[in-house]
Amino acid sequence: MVEYFTYPELPDRQFFRCDRRKASLQVTACAGMWVEANGKAAPERLDQCRNCPLGAKHAGVGEISLSPLRGMSICARCEQGATRLVRKHLCISCYNREREFLKGRNARGSAPVKHPQLHQLEIRFQAGPEIERVAMTVASRQELVVAVLRDTSKHVTFAFEAGRPNLLQGELFG
Ligand SMILES: [Zn+2]
Repeated sequence: MVEYFTYPELPDRQFFRCDRRKASLQVTACAGMWVEANGKAAPERLDQCRNCPLGAKHAGVGEISLSPLRGMSICARCEQGATRLVRKHLCISCYNREREFLKGRNARGSAPVKHPQLHQLEIRFQAGPEIERVAMTVASRQELVVAVLRDTSKHVTFAFEAGRPNLLQGELFG
């Protein structure tokens, strides 16, 4: 349970003790840091704020993703960490192999044979209160799931459709 307090000289500002940052923070400052940490081009100094449920609460955002994949710099195809993601999705290696596959020849001039087929797949999921759809060209359904968990800041539930709680596996992907 978080305890809130005020300082006598700042009676109308609420503070609390933040365990993650090991500091007393003003609630509004915490909310601002959480929003920045979950936005585009989030600075590294706010890494601890990104998946913080308390920060989300202070920012007035209800259900946030607590997936460990959320915001990770991870390639959705090979699931390895990457220092840089091409199209915010693939590591350099997977990207290069995909290009060779699409061109029909690799660096040695021969046709790539081991590369998986690529498919345009769509997935439906619930993100917070919204139903969302994401469509991407991927090598597998799992790649799409990893991408959604990585890229969605709200709590994600797959296989959800209003009035039809039990979607069959085959209906989940369009
Ligand atoms: Zn990769």
